Formats: sequence, C-alpha cells, structure tokens
Amino acid sequence: MGKDEGAMMGLMQCLPLTIGSVIDHAARNHGATEVVSRRVDGSFERSTWAQVAQRSRRLATALDALGTAPGDRIASLAWNRIPHLELYYGVPASGRVLHTLNPRLFEEQIRYVLADGGARVLFVDPDLLALAEGVLAIHDAPVTVVVLCAREDMPASTRDDLIAYEDLIAAADPLAAWPDLDERTASSLCYTSGTTGAPKGVLYSHRSTVLHAMSLMTADSMALSARDNALLLPPMFHVNSWGVPYGSAMCGAKLVLPGAQLDGASLHALLRDEAITFSLGVPTVWFSILDQIERTATAEERGALRLERVFMGGAATPRALVQRFRDLLGVETMQAWGMTETSPVVAVTRPMGRHHGQPWEEELDLRAKAGRCLFGCEVGVADADGNVTGPGADAVGALVVRGHWVTNGYFGKEPGSALDAQGWFDSGDIARIDADGFVQITDRSKDVIKSGGEWISSIDLENAAVAHPAVKEAAVIGVPHPRWQERPLLLLVLQPGEAVTREAMLAHLTEHVARWWLPDDIVTVDELPHTGSGKVIKSELRDQYRHHLDPAQ
Ligand code: ADP
Repeated sequence: MGKDEGAMMGLMQCLPLTIGSVIDHAARNHGATEVVSRRVDGSFERSTWAQVAQRSRRLATALDALGTAPGDRIASLAWNRIPHLELYYGVPASGRVLHTLNPRLFEEQIRYVLADGGARVLFVDPDLLALAEGVLAIHDAPVTVVVLCAREDMPASTRDDLIAYEDLIAAADPLAAWPDLDERTASSLCYTSGTTGAPKGVLYSHRSTVLHAMSLMTADSMALSARDNALLLPPMFHVNSWGVPYGSAMCGAKLVLPGAQLDGASLHALLRDEAITFSLGVPTVWFSILDQIERTATAEERGALRLERVFMGGAATPRALVQRFRDLLGVETMQAWGMTETSPVVAVTRPMGRHHGQPWEEELDLRAKAGRCLFGCEVGVADADGNVTGPGADAVGALVVRGHWVTNGYFGKEPGSALDAQGWFDSGDIARIDADGFVQITDRSKDVIKSGGEWISSIDLENAAVAHPAVKEAAVIGVPHPRWQERPLLLLVLQPGEAVTREAMLAHLTEHVARWWLPDDIVTVDELPHTGSGKVIKSELRDQYRHHLDPAQ
C-alpha cells in the first residue's frame, strides 16, 4: 500500500514544535518560578520564567533593530547566566540561529568556528570581552559586539562601538507574538570540541530541540519536574546545556545557573542555598564538589542538602563515584550517553522493575552502564561490514544511532551526508548492548587498545584505577609495543598528599580486570591535558608517550 492510500487522517490539531511555544508556556504556567544566576563578580541575579519570556521578546525586536534577518546566525560567548538564557529563547524563537561559542577553545579555534558559522553579531560576557577582541582582531567580516551587562559595568575596551545589553533590551519593545515558523527551522548551532580534526557544526532544529527536551522530563530520563530546583553545570556553549534550559521551562523547574564560578566551594554553596534537588554535569566536576563537601560539611549539613538526583554524561561514570554519592549524600546517580551530534541525550541508566531489591553490588554494576535508549531514538551495534544488530545480540562494535534528535549532516555539508544508507549515524564509540538494552561503552574507536588481536577497554581500566582512594584522575592509553602491537599505559593524577606504589596499584587493578589487561607501566603526572569540554586529550598523550614501551617507535 502506498504511503497515503486508504489511510484515514486523524482530526487532531497539528501545531509546530517551536522554541517560542516553550517559553510562552513557561510564562503562562510557571511565570513566577525563579531563574537564578551568578554574575561575573559573584553577585546573584534573580529572574523568573515570565521575565525571561518578556526580555527574550525585547531581544527579538532588538535583533531586528541590529539589522539581522531570519536565518542569520547570532553568536554568543558566555557562561551559564540569565542573559544567555534570554538568548536561548529570543534568538531562535524570532527565527534566527543561536551559535554558541566555547570560550575554553584556543583563540584560533574560536576564530575558525565563528567564521564557519558566519555570525555578524556577537553577544559576549564582560569577562570574555578581551578574548572576543583577540578573536575579532584578525576576523575578515565586521561583527557587532553586544556586552552582556549594563552600560555602567562595561569593561575597558579598545573598541568604541560596543553595545551594552541592558541598553539594547531597555530600548526595545517586546515582540507582540513570535513569528510562525516551520518546526524544522534551524534553531541553534553548536560545534563539536574538535578532539580530532577541526570542530564540526551541528545544526539543531526547533523540532529536534523540543522533542529532545520533552524526553528529558520522562521518568526514565531526568524526570525533570515543577518540584525540581535544577543546577545546570554543563556549559551553555556545549550541546545546549544538554537541553535543560528548554526542558526546565516546559515543566516549570527552578533553574540555577552557576556563572563562571565552577569551583567546589561555590557549587556546594549553590546546592545548599538554592535548595537544589537535581543537577547534571560531567563526572569530573562532581569529584571536586564531593571533595569539598566531604572536607567541610558536617553530617548535619550534608543531611540538610535537598539534592536527590545527579545526571552524568559526556564520559563514563566511574563506579567509585556512584558509591561515593550514595555513601556521602544518599543521592541517586543516573548515567547517560550522548554527544553533540545527538542533542545529546539518547540513553539513560535507571533500574527496571525487575531490578527491584537487587543487591547493591549489582545495582552498582548497572549504574556504571551508559544507558538504555529513550523513545525517539534507536541504537545499534555495527560490524565491520555495516551490519547492525540491536539489543541482546551481544556484539561488540561501532555504536550507531538514529532518531528525532540525531544530526543527519554537519553544517555546511550536504544534508544526510553523515548517515549510512539505512540512516544510521556512526557515533565513533565502541559498545555492546545487552539483552535489556543497556549500552556499555568500551571506548571511543580511536582510543581502543589493540593488544595481540584483542581489545582492551581503556574506560574499564580507568574506572578501576579511580576506585583507588589515592587516585584523583586516571587515563589509559594504548602505546606501541614491539610484540603485542599496543599495550596499556596508565597515567595517574593522585589526590593531594597521597601516594601509591606501582605494586599496590597493580594489585588493586587485579581485583577489577583480567590479568592480561594490566597496564605495562604506570606513570604519575601532575595533571592531564583536557579539551574545552573537559575530556582528556588522549591523542596528545599518545604522541607524548609513543616511545614509552618501545624506544624504536
Ligand atoms: P566532542 O565534542 O569532544 O566530540 P561530545 O561532548 O560530543 O564530545 O562527547 C561525546 C562523546 O563522549 C561520546 O562519543 C563518548 O565517547 C563520550 N561519552 C558520552 N557519554 C558517555 C558515557 N556515558 N560513557 C562513556 N563515554 C561517554
């Protein structure tokens, strides 16, 4: 039967899934709910969803006045703050595309990303203005710069044409109604961190953004709700802060944005003072928060925290972290898998009904898995010939994904060019999917350690290493070996004042991994190199330690 032949169409309303409708809903239904953020000087700014809605409508008019048109990219170089949230709504809801720039990249990379996106207007946080000026100093096209502060707070600058955001907003009338947009209209542009090669642009649509945000609220995902006070740690320049700026407006959660202060003490204070119930972020940021809480908070103070759930992704959540959250705070950790290209959340680990009452050791194993696929996406494992199997096939191979919030091609490339013939996007991760559908990531394909024809999982080894109390951070890389092709090398950053011998570490690892996986050497370093999004740059380590086991390399 042909597509429409004989089918009867439903008689339900069909409204476009747009970002404007999200903030309108928040203003109508959760208008008084607070949105809080920290300014660069550490002071607090407090707003509500109604005010965010109102000011984003003013911003839309201001964007007209600046001469920008639908489809134009509008760049931001900013921390997690309320003005950035207003850009999250005012820019896409008015038909433009918000291009978030990552201030942690090198100046050269930011320049490349800005030029590739083609924005002619840049909104910048006051403390990032000097960086923006450096980027723009040798930029080809003229760029209007708006500084996200009041005129009296404008930092010193070499430019005399800077616009103060508060002036811009004050001078603009609120747009009466958002324009009608096709839900497939581009809404935001975010670049991958460029761990390998040049960063690539992922262009989200209103539809993909809204569907992704709706799924965040489901009970087996973040279960975000109007009872939550959410602390948003993933930067707003990284994959739309994992969609939570949109999801929290849909459900009316209070949203707390930490600004530029991401140290353990500042974040602990926010957890306490803003009565945070839910938070999210990469695992590494949680280590410093937990260290701080352990060092400074009494049992009573810990008990007074309202934190219930922590959602982690972007890297494997070590079992040791799951355990620590439970022991120290009685908090549930949820692990998720995703990437810039997938909006990002595709899979989340939460126990199923049949796991009820299982021993803690088994639950710990479960929570160390990357996640089960959410409705709206599909995951599979591809073999070397591109044959894809689903849950339960027990195959190990390339993790592939398709769905409503998965990219089909990078910005500036042919639509569909990132997919294979069956519409699968290759994530670049190596994984296994068990019979229950839990995805277990063993490695990124380029980080896999190939030893004597077998694969060793760097992630499993790292998780085992950080389970040792003396270890702060661990990275395992494959280095060339004359006999085995590659062997694992373990690099450790130790907790301040701690020491661990090679023998003690090997004995510890033996409890967790097969003997033939044990690293051939262990090196203690002061720090590991990280990307702008906090991932260890393994390619750099591989270059640095190329000759470590085989001087002939
Ligand atoms: P980049 O921009 O550096 O490519 P992303 O922020 O898009 O990085 O990160 C995506 C990658 O992060 C995934 O491909 C995967 O390698 C890793 N990752 C994300 N979540 C998990 C997880 N739960 N377990 C292991 N690795 C993960």
